[in-house]
Amino acid sequence: MSPRIINIPLSGGDRKAQAKGIRQAHGLHNSQYRESVLIRSAAEAKIREADRLECEAWNAIMWAGGPAMPSPGDPQAEPTIGKAINGGYDLLEAKCNRCEHVSLVPLRGLTHPAETPIWKLEAALYCLPCSEGRHYSRRQRAHIIGLTYARPDPEPAKAKRR
Ligand SMILES: [Zn+2]
Repeated sequence: MSPRIINIPLSGGDRKAQAKGIRQAHGLHNSQYRESVLIRSAAEAKIREADRLECEAWNAIMWAGGPAMPSPGDPQAEPTIGKAINGGYDLLEAKCNRCEHVSLVPLRGLTHPAETPIWKLEAALYCLPCSEGRHYSRRQRAHIIGLTYARPDPEPAKAKRR
């Protein structure tokens, strides 16, 4: 049953009270909405910080020799593509098992779902220089070194002055 709307003619005083109530409701909306935006952006910053820390934790374990993949029931950092990008670590560093050539894989360019753990990408890694002209099954494997990001050039080329 839909609610019945009864329009009762309001007296002047009631109209004023109603207008005041509506203004207060708008004011309440504005201040609460502004607060929700602030809280949400602070929460998003916290999530980014947690994602960055998880990438750094995983990098530490990778530097120490792994394992890249957590064993069942063992708490271990397991950054996903989405977390790595959100945490600012948007490049995967990989090294060829044969020639030691290091490549950077831009995570944003991958078509994998964002929830794919980074360690799962290792199965698809291969060295480009060593695999040129080879059949898919004969490609030279590469292994994950860790997550990284593009650092700004510490000494950007200065414009020549005369
Ligand atoms: Zn190679």
